[in-house]
Amino acid sequence: AENQRARIRHCFFAPSMEGIASRKLKIQSLLNTGSALEELDVYYQPLIDATTGHIVSFEALARWHNAELGFIPPPEFITAAEDGGQIVELGELIMQTACLQLAQWRRLAPALKISVNISPLQLLDPAFESMVANALQLAGLPPQALKLEVTEQLMLQSSDQVLHKLNSLQSQGIQLAIDDFGSGYASLNYLSSYPFELLKIDQSFIMDIMREERLLTLTRTITELAHSLGLKVVAEGVETTEIASLLQTLECDLMQGYLFSRPLPVAEVTSMLENGVPWPPNA
Ligand code: C2E
Ligand code: MG
Ligand code: MG
Ligand code: MG
Repeated sequence: AENQRARIRHCFFAPSMEGIASRKLKIQSLLNTGSALEELDVYYQPLIDATTGHIVSFEALARWHNAELGFIPPPEFITAAEDGGQIVELGELIMQTACLQLAQWRRLAPALKISVNISPLQLLDPAFESMVANALQLAGLPPQALKLEVTEQLMLQSSDQVLHKLNSLQSQGIQLAIDDFGSGYASLNYLSSYPFELLKIDQSFIMDIMREERLLTLTRTITELAHSLGLKVVAEGVETTEIASLLQTLECDLMQGYLFSRPLPVAEVTSMLENGVPWPPNA
């Protein structure tokens, strides 16, 4: 009976485990081929000034539709690239694409900025700073046009080397944002010792803020703390006007979410900027 149970368990679990592992291997092998990089696309989601209602920047969000696998969620292929050793190359492609695109859009909206998400492994790469400088130079952009978003995960590595690199980027005029704040384990201490200018409150806090008093208290407290340390606050995942008004009363600085816009393909952002469409539509 013991044997039989083991066999059943084996039959039941083995295929799905293998399925997950082989899908990851498949993604990694696709990343190694040039065609995977050709299929990669970048979408852009606006960040809205909570006071004026104007777009101040766009966040670049990688998209990958593969002929065989279909849409692959970004966290899945980013993790696969981190584990498979392709994240540095992939990250460079995304950085160059986003910078070149911003340079185009700045002809229509000169003050526009771009945020690019950065994996901790990219930051640990010795060539990271020159990769960024190169992408900016290629696009003819000043460092002030670029913001880098890093997650709390990075702080866990909290090496002097990382801190040194972040300080160096900041001193060049590149803005640093801590992403998904509240979702992980970052100590509040990091907020004051690292050169962040923006704090993005995790969307899980914002989405349930109307239903859970606890989340309202946390969001208010995080915002006050961030402001007292000189950081601006971004609320992610704003989906309703009720939440947007609440965040305005909390003096949140910037908002991002489906209420204003989903991440958009290049052509949609371009025509929006060209047509001078009043934005956001309901402001
Ligand atoms: P993130 O940087 O926190 O990006 C915000 C995510 O929330 C995006 O998902 C965006 O589409 C989604 N979002 C924005 N507003 C709303 C909303 O109102 N409601 C809901 N439900 N979702 C909203 P996406 O594009 O699937 O990206 C997921 C994560 O994958 C990102 O989280 C980021 O950590 C990572 N990622 C995406 N692109 C890149 C990239 O180019 N490089 C790196 N290293 N990571 C990336
Ligand atoms: Mg982000
Ligand atoms: Mg986030
Ligand atoms: Mg996230």
